[in-house]
Amino acid sequence: MQKQSHGLAADHGRVELPGPAEDIACMRAALDEARAAVEHEDVPIGAVIVRGGEVIARARNRREEARDPTGHAEILALREAGERVGSWRLTDCAMYVTLEPCVMCAGAIVLARVPLVVFGAPDPKAGAVISVANVFDERKLNHHPRWRTGVLREECERVLRDFFASHRPAADE
Ligand SMILES: [Zn+2]
Repeated sequence: MQKQSHGLAADHGRVELPGPAEDIACMRAALDEARAAVEHEDVPIGAVIVRGGEVIARARNRREEARDPTGHAEILALREAGERVGSWRLTDCAMYVTLEPCVMCAGAIVLARVPLVVFGAPDPKAGAVISVANVFDERKLNHHPRWRTGVLREECERVLRDFFASHRPAADE
């Protein structure tokens, strides 16, 4: 394993992960991102990445806006965090996301070595943490993010429900 030797990650080992007391404030930041997605007709899902008590990356779902099938909030937030930290290894970062990550995003979170993910609402149709797959608990993978859920769940679900009620049928997702 190559040692990280540049960027913010150089002081690894000194950064504490957020605890439940910080969950609501961090999820509110993710919800702000989710709401911004609606302006571009994108499904309102937002994510932020927190390191040492600071939000270092924030992103919204941009699939429609960017015509990018991989333009999920989590992927874009991971990319931004990598730039900010100066490494693809986000070993002292936590992700807050309004909806349970899909298989692609859960896989990217594992690859980025993110140690903690907090999601607001479960996604019964595509969620890859507890719903349709259990990527974070897959023993055969080499990294297992811890996760918490239910933080501001009703608000996270409401922005999605409001979007689908006024835009298009949820079946399209
Ligand atoms: Zn995703």
